[in-house]
Amino acid sequence: MKFAHYDGRAVVTDGQRAVFAADASNGKYADDPQSIFAVWDEFATWSQTVDLADGFVIDRTKLGAPSPQPRQVFAVGLNYADHTAESGLDLPPEPAVFTKFPTSVTGPDTILELPTDTVDWEAELVAVIGRPTHRVSESAAWDHVAGLTVGQDISERTRQLIGPAPQFSLGKSFPGFSPTGPWLVTVDELGNRDDLGIGCSVNGQVMQDGRTSDLIFSVSRIIAKLSAILPLLPGDLIFTGTPSGVGGARKPPVFLRHGDVLETWVEGIGTITSTCRTGTPYPAGSTS
Ligand code: ZN
Repeated sequence: MKFAHYDGRAVVTDGQRAVFAADASNGKYADDPQSIFAVWDEFATWSQTVDLADGFVIDRTKLGAPSPQPRQVFAVGLNYADHTAESGLDLPPEPAVFTKFPTSVTGPDTILELPTDTVDWEAELVAVIGRPTHRVSESAAWDHVAGLTVGQDISERTRQLIGPAPQFSLGKSFPGFSPTGPWLVTVDELGNRDDLGIGCSVNGQVMQDGRTSDLIFSVSRIIAKLSAILPLLPGDLIFTGTPSGVGGARKPPVFLRHGDVLETWVEGIGTITSTCRTGTPYPAGSTS
């Protein structure tokens, strides 16, 4: 099943056609896509009964983030060995976790405003939590995943790496820095949920091309480790890390520029597109 946020309303879709969940369920499910995650298991079962033959044809410009207002957004750094090596760092013994603040979350096909000239890409598989998840084992972790979506962990490298305690969370949380979509796909639709092709291109040139089977900490292991510490909540996002090929590690470094078109994909899920524009410069002048 594919679940999406369309024109502000929750829909069930096959990627071509869609029906509004509220209409198809005679109001049992609300339009607010965030409310669906609170009843995800029941919703997923119900969605199997939905007939998409009479659905409307999707206009991609109306798609929003599958989970537009998550309460928590986790991201894992250095989770592919090849990316860790290109970053000049040792493999982490534990997941290197930071947050992308929820105001950075946006939909699949968006304008990406560049606040500086050192903005970089990171193609990522994103897991969306579908049940209250606290202290779950690795073997039970997938049962707590509503589905998977495509994400970009857009990163302002100067802010990210500044100071004695690098500012990962701020450097990756400018507005629009967490595009996700085009929909959430339940894992039963995927051939092997732990081995999906992932990558991105800039203006058609492939920059990253990896497989999620190369994750150092798999989706289930990340969930077990995070939930050992704190509860994960329905609708929460987990950005699982990026393979090699980011711009900042290239020699010379390559960063996103006005007019660049960044396409990001995960096999079996889809592609999201970020069109880059020069944004309000950072640091901006003082307003006080
Ligand atoms: Zn990342």
